[in-house]
Amino acid sequence: MFTATRPASTVLARCSVSTRRVLSNPSAACQPPAFFLGRRAAGPSKSSLFSTLLKSGAVEFRKRIAEARELAGLTQQQVSAVTGLGRTVIARIEAGSRKLAATELVLLAEAFDRPVDWFFSASPPAVVSRRSDPAVGGQSRVLDSRVERIARDVAFLIDEGDIPQVTRIALDPPSTVEASEDAAVKLRGKLDVPRGPLLDLQTFAERAGLFSFSLDLGKAGGDAAYVAVGDVGVAVINGALEPGRRRFNVAHELGHHVFQDAYAPEVGLSPQDDNEKLINAFAIHLLLPRSEVRVIMSEFEGNPRLAAVAAAVRYRLSWTAVCAQLHNLGAIDSGTREELANYPPSRADFIELGEYWIAELDPPRVPPLYGRKVLAAYRRGKLTEARVLELLWGTVDRSELPAQEEVPLEAWRREFEPLV
Ligand SMILES: [Zn+2]
Repeated sequence: MFTATRPASTVLARCSVSTRRVLSNPSAACQPPAFFLGRRAAGPSKSSLFSTLLKSGAVEFRKRIAEARELAGLTQQQVSAVTGLGRTVIARIEAGSRKLAATELVLLAEAFDRPVDWFFSASPPAVVSRRSDPAVGGQSRVLDSRVERIARDVAFLIDEGDIPQVTRIALDPPSTVEASEDAAVKLRGKLDVPRGPLLDLQTFAERAGLFSFSLDLGKAGGDAAYVAVGDVGVAVINGALEPGRRRFNVAHELGHHVFQDAYAPEVGLSPQDDNEKLINAFAIHLLLPRSEVRVIMSEFEGNPRLAAVAAAVRYRLSWTAVCAQLHNLGAIDSGTREELANYPPSRADFIELGEYWIAELDPPRVPPLYGRKVLAAYRRGKLTEARVLELLWGTVDRSELPAQEEVPLEAWRREFEPLV
């Protein structure tokens, strides 16, 4: 559905909250483990991602309980009400003056929406990009929790050899919007999609080493978050948002992924807001490049609205983003942009144009290669039914899982195909 959800002028700077922070372990900001910044140290053992992640930080257990409670935005009183544990019991656990039974830990883990292993390890001391909607304000705790959980899963699956450690495509970080545009063109070139709409953005991102997940986090659940796990990136985008914005958010997190090193916390060359603007510029130029705008404008010469409608439906962008990009590239003037922004297209407009609106990234949606590999591991008996359902985030239900025995030849053949 198309709606002009915000003034067009904010489209290239709508990340009001964006911190690249080091969770739980401030000292790691100075010396982050090499593999988290895409610079794997020489000679680490091949399957060390997850174990390094578990060992990193040596965080005290009791601090993790308190941290999880704070991240969940709950008071000790509220946790007590949810879990049935006394408030003083929770206070003593957090103070380290009382031991915790396994059953109590499970209750707390459920209350905080964290996996149990979370309490025994530091959060990934990774570069985290956090975005949230200025209209909503603040950071989304659910988003934070989801991206962290998925980052752990991905690290584990890579260690186990269940999903490939794809190589991140790295690009020079831009310092101007022109350089952002160049970077977008370069990335399309590297992935052999120099022209046309980027349909199936999840596959495109995966080919650059970014696993992107679309989960329904509710309208107030923030936009998206990114975390680096070795050379692989993990992004969670809020699938509850409108489809054009979901795609924009994947492209934005892809920007964080390809420019990763430049925005590492220890570098800190420019203010976050500038980084966000440059990454937004990268995202829109990736989705709707200058060369494509030229083609569309000449196809609909003299009718800027039809040109904009065609761009929105063909490139699967929000109306706001299209209007802003046409204006950025000088294809329409400010007056026209304002007029268009107040006159978003309807489905009738698309039908008249002979086009169909296809909503991408409907939640829940896991990255294609990831999904395929997780199912392959299940078929081989490496993952339990409960675990595979967790890893697939509701994209399939129990009754749809493939048989684990008598594997069809076709499935094995697919598994050994080249990955990207
Ligand atoms: Zn960002």
